[in-house]
Amino acid sequence: MRAIALLAAVLIFSPGPALAEENELSEVLLEFQRLGTEQPAAALELLDRTLGQGEPDLAGESDPESLAELYRLRTSLRRSKGDYPLAMADAQRLGLLAHQLGDIGMEAQSLFLQGTVEAEQGRYGAAMEHFHAARGLLETADHPGQLARIYNAIGVTHNFAEHSARAREYFELALASARQAEDDFLIATYTGNLATVIAATEGPEAALPMQREVYAAGERLGDASMQIVAMANICNLLVDSGRLEEADRTCPEAMAEVDRLEGSRVRAGIRMAVGKLRAKQGQLEQALEVYEEGLDIARGIVPTVHRDLLEVLAQLHERMDHPQAALERYRELISLHDENLERERQGMVEELEIRYQIERSAAELQLLRLDADLQATQIRLRNALVMGLAFLLLIAIAATGGALHAHRIQSRLRKELAARNDELEQAVSRISELARRDPLTGLLNRRALEELAEQELARKRREETPLCLVLADIDLFKPINDRHGHSVGDEVLKSLAQRLRELFRASDLIARWGGEEFLCLLPNTSLEEAVAAIDRFRADLKEHPIQTGIGPLEITLTFGLAVVEDDLRTAILTADQAMYQGKAAGRDRLVVSSGPDQDHHG
Ligand code: GH3
Ligand code: MG
Ligand code: MG
Repeated sequence: MRAIALLAAVLIFSPGPALAEENELSEVLLEFQRLGTEQPAAALELLDRTLGQGEPDLAGESDPESLAELYRLRTSLRRSKGDYPLAMADAQRLGLLAHQLGDIGMEAQSLFLQGTVEAEQGRYGAAMEHFHAARGLLETADHPGQLARIYNAIGVTHNFAEHSARAREYFELALASARQAEDDFLIATYTGNLATVIAATEGPEAALPMQREVYAAGERLGDASMQIVAMANICNLLVDSGRLEEADRTCPEAMAEVDRLEGSRVRAGIRMAVGKLRAKQGQLEQALEVYEEGLDIARGIVPTVHRDLLEVLAQLHERMDHPQAALERYRELISLHDENLERERQGMVEELEIRYQIERSAAELQLLRLDADLQATQIRLRNALVMGLAFLLLIAIAATGGALHAHRIQSRLRKELAARNDELEQAVSRISELARRDPLTGLLNRRALEELAEQELARKRREETPLCLVLADIDLFKPINDRHGHSVGDEVLKSLAQRLRELFRASDLIARWGGEEFLCLLPNTSLEEAVAAIDRFRADLKEHPIQTGIGPLEITLTFGLAVVEDDLRTAILTADQAMYQGKAAGRDRLVVSSGPDQDHHG
């Protein structure tokens, strides 16, 4: 049961205090702060009056930061009311403003908000896209507080996908960034989130002291909603750890307090905990009543809580010998499954996380093939599991009511699962393809080349055709970076890669071998032909310098060429030696290695 996580989500996605202290906040902002989060309806009305419903207009706007802040606040308010399309529109308007202002922090905030709106609706894949985009923007800038929010949001998304270990990793990153930002509110919030993962992995007892810490922080910071949510979490942990008397003292108060907050998720979530308490106490009628209340709050607004409540209600009805009512709940549960919540939740989060890791660093690419294989296995296992669960559910339904057209549903579920399987298989092959390529240049990466080279070697042996290997290193590349900046360096790498692709044959294998080093493997090519190809490339480069954003750059490379005899390693080693001889002899040349004797080629 994910009640704890569900309760915490309100805190996780809540607006929190304003990110930036403005010198000149407009009067509206002051008025808004006066209303506080306690009177959300009045606050929203105030914002609607000020902002209207159209696109933001920067012309004649003297205080764009305040305007942005108001859009941010309205997004949060609308999101917590469950007005998702309106919340999304506001978050996008904020992005528009950020773009006009060229403000990276604000742009990240817009992405973050869009992600939270997607996540609240159970669209975790789309949410993750936005969070990672925001993270990409922030990791290069110095915004530890904002970065903490993003890490946290990614953690939450993993938590929903029930990847506790991953979630924990991100919550710990979030906590570290919050400490770096010296932000007590964030520190307390992320302590609470870490506690939810710890409750799931190590049991409720381990999480209790952490939630009590959050409660105390809420008191210290004068943050009523933090206190209330912590109290709700404490209630839930007490129920889960079987301390029913303590829970009986905490939970009713927590429920009354939570109702002062407007968030649907937390109000439905606390009912889940209280229902569980009543059921454990044997008060089944009361449990039913409070679960039903929760269901009314969550239905159509908070899909994950909706689903969990349907599940516990169905079980409770079964226990109370109400087969017809249980059947109704199971039916609703199945139609929720039809909306593909599960597919997105389980499949996309993983896929996206892996994809973004690809972008992060070339070194990590080595591990990805393994990851992708592992994932394929997991997907197969999971499909088997989902199938099994679906059938169990069908059996349960057939046993309870017998009135259901089981065959129809069964075949629909089968089709559904087959479609899901296809989609995930495609995702896996996309991931494997990405794992073969260097993200900057699109050339093969080291591992992919090594694999393909084995096939070429086998062919060479079989067909007795010559095979040549070229190593090429850009001359004095560091000064180019130093003088013109890294991004110009990147441009050079990209267009050199493009030239190599154009000049060599389609059957040649070209890889980015190191930072500014390329390796080309030329099948069915004699030494003379290879020399001619390289000479052609060098001449072309002299005649047509590389075009960059700062104008044309005259780039030269030093080449080492070797004939591949029996194994790749030896060929690479000799080509490398030849290349370094070329460097030592003054660069901008080709050195051919033919075993121990070497010819120079100017
Ligand atoms: P030499 O002629 O001796 O090869 O000199 P060099 O400056 O090219 O050699 P060195 O190995 O000292 O420097 C290589 C530089 O390549 C340093 C590093 O910053 C740069 N580099 C490596 N990878 C990338 C990249 O992905 N983008 C950019 N812009 N630069 C990179
Ligand atoms: Mg080098
Ligand atoms: Mg170099």
